[in-house]
Amino acid sequence: MKTHLLTLLLAAGTCLGETVQHRGIWLHPEQFKTPQLAEEWIAKIATAHLNAIYPLVWHRGGTAWFKSKLSPMAGDVPEGFDPLGNLVKLAHARGIAVHAWFVNGSYGGSTTNGLFTQHPDWQLQGDRGGETWYDLGKPAVREFQRDLMLECLKNYDVDGLHFDYIRYSGQVICYCDHCQHEFAQKYGFRPLNRSEERFPAMLDIGSNPLGKPTTAKVLATFDHGVPAITVNRLDAGEAVLVNWQVAGHSCLALDNFVKETMKRFGATAKNTYQLNTTQTAAKYRLTEQEKARVWLKELGFPPRLIDEAALAKVPKGATVMLAGQYLINEETAKWLESFARDGGHCLFVDGPVLSIKHAPLQRVTGLRVSAGFFHDWKVISPAPDQDVLKPGPPVDATKERQRMEKWVEYRAWTVTELVRAVYKGAKKLKPRAWVNAAVFYKKESADKVCQDWYGWLREGCMDYVLPMAYTEKNEDLAKAFEEWRTFDPRMERIIPGLSIYSRREGKAVPRDLGLVRSQLDMCRANATHGNLFFSLAYLNDELIRFLSTGPFVKPAKPYYPAKP
Ligand SMILES: [Zn+2]
Repeated sequence: MKTHLLTLLLAAGTCLGETVQHRGIWLHPEQFKTPQLAEEWIAKIATAHLNAIYPLVWHRGGTAWFKSKLSPMAGDVPEGFDPLGNLVKLAHARGIAVHAWFVNGSYGGSTTNGLFTQHPDWQLQGDRGGETWYDLGKPAVREFQRDLMLECLKNYDVDGLHFDYIRYSGQVICYCDHCQHEFAQKYGFRPLNRSEERFPAMLDIGSNPLGKPTTAKVLATFDHGVPAITVNRLDAGEAVLVNWQVAGHSCLALDNFVKETMKRFGATAKNTYQLNTTQTAAKYRLTEQEKARVWLKELGFPPRLIDEAALAKVPKGATVMLAGQYLINEETAKWLESFARDGGHCLFVDGPVLSIKHAPLQRVTGLRVSAGFFHDWKVISPAPDQDVLKPGPPVDATKERQRMEKWVEYRAWTVTELVRAVYKGAKKLKPRAWVNAAVFYKKESADKVCQDWYGWLREGCMDYVLPMAYTEKNEDLAKAFEEWRTFDPRMERIIPGLSIYSRREGKAVPRDLGLVRSQLDMCRANATHGNLFFSLAYLNDELIRFLSTGPFVKPAKPYYPAKP
């Protein structure tokens, strides 16, 4: 009977009058790398009645914000100061739990300094576009990261270890000798060779495609019939459209085609431009656009970045790349048309789907509608009635999809192996420590980066996860709750991560309080045991006042799931 009552009280979020709720926040070294900063921010955290912090202690090319024998202390820390040690003391004095945050997959630094200079072979192969990643397929990398995380747990009185970027950048990655060999041993056949020099090729791609060609000549198609590559002549000029997001997916066949095209355009480092429209920049984070810039540079045509204000200076006959420019205003559309008619060249990559209604853009691209977003494995084949792309050997899509499924299974296994190793080591070292992870909030997206967090929870090699549901759309958050609760009906091991910032005009600003409030209401309605905020830099006075007088008015102890 007694146990029964206690269980009931716990389920209601109270324990003998005391509130139990996870009220966490992520913080960067910029908020605790000096004694003054840490003091200041901890006071704010305590005033807001938060009770768990997740400080970043390892990232940026393998540097640490704690004393480690394995990694150097970050350069921006005052000589002799121990940021994590200091933070743990300050936090614990106020009853705030500390979970040390490690960034596992993403390197976060230039390859010319940091850990990769000592261990160049620790870098993942096959990614590109300016991002570098660890090859978690290599046992040495996993062992290093495990030892580092356990070193931190051993030497500091932290309450837990927190994984982040515990994944890859995609699925088509790392065909290094080690990974190929290990895969062949496990599965009995070699993985796909991703080095097709000619189409057809099978790729895992995201696309905001244009469709319904009018004057455009289709050079290649996706296997569901939508054009993949088109070329459109317009008087003296020309526009080529690559109808998907190209960066981050090695495709030699495409690289070869684009190199040939750029040469034909007479493109050089001096007369190649990349136009990012102000409208697109205001609405989107330009990650894909930046990757496209790096890609074109790697192909030998480094583009000069411009916006509309610089269009008048673009010389006649130059080449302008527009990658992921979903929004183009009518005036710029008109400029593009006259630029092309006058002998200019346009390279569209993942085309202007949201502005294709403008007639000048339809005339430049030679296509007239948007054809529906997709993210999928697609075979891209040369069109039959063209002679630009010479076809290579045929691709058996069904067979290749099966091989790829196994490859993805293998890549996900390498990530899970690191999770298992840290979990096992942590529990041995400190059975009371919590092992948790920031994860992609939709299962479909997590699967696309080899992050099997549902599997980790099922297997029991992760205590709880913090899905990063930073969306501003509450209907998306509602869908996420549905998905999470199907798996974990009482939300015992899923603690939502919510954002307290928004992007406005390309800048991160504190999120509208009404939106923060409505998302906390949704958490309560879905019986969560708390949430985390991203991130501390946006915890302003207004939000502190709102939390400490509203939803967090009563101080609480941090919730944790029952031990298995
Ligand atoms: Zn590898």
